[in-house]
Amino acid sequence: MGVVSVKRVRLISAKRELKSERPRVAEGARYSALAILRHGLRGDKDWKRSWREPEPKSGYDIVIVGGGGHGLATAYFLASQHGIRNVAVIERGYLGGGNVGRNTTIIRSNYMLPGNTLFYELSLQLWEGLSRELNYNLMVSHRGQINLAHDPHSLDALRRRGNIMRANGIDAELLTREEVWRLSPNLNFSAAARFPIRGALWQPRAGTVRHDAVAWGLARAADSLGVDIIQNCEVVGFLRKGDSDGAVIGVRTTRGDIRAERVGLAAAGHTSHVARLAGLRLPIESHLLQAAVTEPVKPCLDQVVSSLATHFYISQSDRGGLVFGGHLDHYNSYAARGNLPAIEEIAAQARDVFPPASGARILRHWGGVMDMSMDGSPIIDRTSVEGLYLNGGWCYGGFKATPASGFCFSHLLATGESHGVAKLLTLDRFAEGRLIDETGHGATPNLH
Ligand SMILES: Cc1cc2nc3c(=O)[nH]c(=O)nc-3n(C[C@H](O)[C@H](O)[C@H](O)COP(=O)(O)OP(=O)(O)OC[C@H]3O[C@@H](n4cnc5c(N)ncnc54)[C@H](O)[C@@H]3O)c2cc1C
Repeated sequence: MGVVSVKRVRLISAKRELKSERPRVAEGARYSALAILRHGLRGDKDWKRSWREPEPKSGYDIVIVGGGGHGLATAYFLASQHGIRNVAVIERGYLGGGNVGRNTTIIRSNYMLPGNTLFYELSLQLWEGLSRELNYNLMVSHRGQINLAHDPHSLDALRRRGNIMRANGIDAELLTREEVWRLSPNLNFSAAARFPIRGALWQPRAGTVRHDAVAWGLARAADSLGVDIIQNCEVVGFLRKGDSDGAVIGVRTTRGDIRAERVGLAAAGHTSHVARLAGLRLPIESHLLQAAVTEPVKPCLDQVVSSLATHFYISQSDRGGLVFGGHLDHYNSYAARGNLPAIEEIAAQARDVFPPASGARILRHWGGVMDMSMDGSPIIDRTSVEGLYLNGGWCYGGFKATPASGFCFSHLLATGESHGVAKLLTLDRFAEGRLIDETGHGATPNLH
């Protein structure tokens, strides 16, 4: 049951994209074995703060709204790739308090529509070197993702997706039921299973990344290159040139006005709300997505597993907790909290797909507010308002996209041009009907 054999050629290479001699974390701030020894001998008293708490300046070259993964990655790449360091990231809460710290940590590049495929593959490649580059252990784990098919139709859809991935140089393998069993025997192979396993699409390089380490590592690296990270500061409006329709020349915040030559929005689940402050109506809605984690149990699940029919996904964290989630709540909301009906539904799916989960107690469950764009794909583009740039609509796929998103958004902000792999992720596709209709679907690709 093989996927069409295509010579595996990487059509894009993150290594070629990155400037080899770009600055990394500033010398004095580097973590190393020697630094641990030196600090240990001094009683561990003089570790530097990971990032400063600067007062906002009156103006910057570039202001980024939102200190989540995307805002921080953008600021980091502006400084490291483009040498633009007079940058502020404005965060209304605390770093890591948004979706960057609420997601289920899955990374993958199993997208199949032009616009998404190479963009997400670039992101996966950027994850591969990011811990070293940031001098911060992001715990990138290429444990692989098994995407289960429960019926022949799903298996056909996965075969098509796998072929497209391979044609683009991305790793993908179609597995038989027996091959899935050999990889992950604790899944439900019972003859009485409600969702019988027919086969799966396997992406070996997919996996997980420690989410809050991503926020902290990017913040520390950006700060050490001169970026000001300003927490507890909400953007409540925009400064406009001349009248209220003029170019954006800064932001109004709860800590005063800050001028900027360019402003980049990276406010995730609040994109539409913040854009409205500039008079923009975007093809984005906000929805709640929930997840849960059990108490730690013995190692029993080596991969990320997702199920196409149930839209359920599960992995085991390094601490032993089973981390799982499912569908959106399907009503618009800005409330970042969980509720019992959704958790009951995904807990039932956990029991069906991965029976060992039924014996584990749920330790925590939570929710995050997600930007859902109308075609399920993201937007990295300038807006119709001069000086205002947009990074949003990340839907289910935003965490895995963090490095490529920051890389491409920084390119747009620095050069005024869309980066090659993000050139289809434009805002006008909604007006012109060029949709990238790939609803991302959390850890599971959809059936298109
Ligand atoms: C339960 C759950 C599970 C998920 N699982 C995965 C997964 O496994 N893999 C995956 O790829 N993706 C996943 N996602 C999606 C992913 O987390 C998001 O798409 C992504 O994190 C969004 O980008 P961000 O990190 O920049 O967002 P955020 O961290 O939310 O950053 C946006 C920031 O903007 C700030 N902000 C908003 N308004 C203002 C304002 N007016 N002024 C100043 N600051 C403002 C917010 O406070 C917030 O900190 C999941 C999401 C959830 C909720």
